[in-house]
Amino acid sequence: MDMSKRTAKHVENLTFRIGSKNRIMKKALEGFKPEAVRAIPQSEIQQNVDKALEGFTDVDLAIAMENSSIFCARCGECCRRSDPIVLTPSDIDLLTSLLGIQRLGDYVTAKDGRFIFKKTKPCAFLQKNKCIIYDHRPLVCRQFPFDDRTKGGALTLALYKHCKFTANLIACKAKLMILRRLEEMIDPRRSRTRRI
Ligand code: SF4
Ligand code: SF4
Repeated sequence: MDMSKRTAKHVENLTFRIGSKNRIMKKALEGFKPEAVRAIPQSEIQQNVDKALEGFTDVDLAIAMENSSIFCARCGECCRRSDPIVLTPSDIDLLTSLLGIQRLGDYVTAKDGRFIFKKTKPCAFLQKNKCIIYDHRPLVCRQFPFDDRTKGGALTLALYKHCKFTANLIACKAKLMILRRLEEMIDPRRSRTRRI
């Protein structure tokens, strides 16, 4: 397959799902002095953003999982827009221990062979932008925006237009590439060392 076409498609898909490329570029450039930004040709900055948009390696995903608090904007949109919220048997056990078997039915129902939350958009447990059952929240909430329903159970980063996590991760990748480029401009020996 022609890799340039594949890359173009990835960039198109990712920008379609997470918002405009310009927004990501703006975020990637946050914190740089204007003179530093001017030192790099605009086309190079765009290339770095495109490269960051090509997709995620397993290392990117591992870093994102370990440092999720850096990339999550704590906007609470996942608790306002996710539907359905599907529960595992362990979630049911945990919620039963919290709510008791009688009250569980107020919040949980069965549909198509699965247990789901009755009320979503927003979730019944979201109050003042906080989860009031945080320590007992379901697995899907603990993992969000990672998802293990594809790729044979391996966690992948799911894309949602309302969630800024992925855009923040991409902007951070682009920022690191821009930073590396600036380092090389200041000290060209760095680029020679990296090639060895
Ligand atoms: S259970 Fe908590 S974390 Fe999960 S959607 Fe509801 S409020 Fe959000
Ligand atoms: S929608 Fe995304 S960015 Fe917002 S709180 Fe949820 S995980 Fe974090």
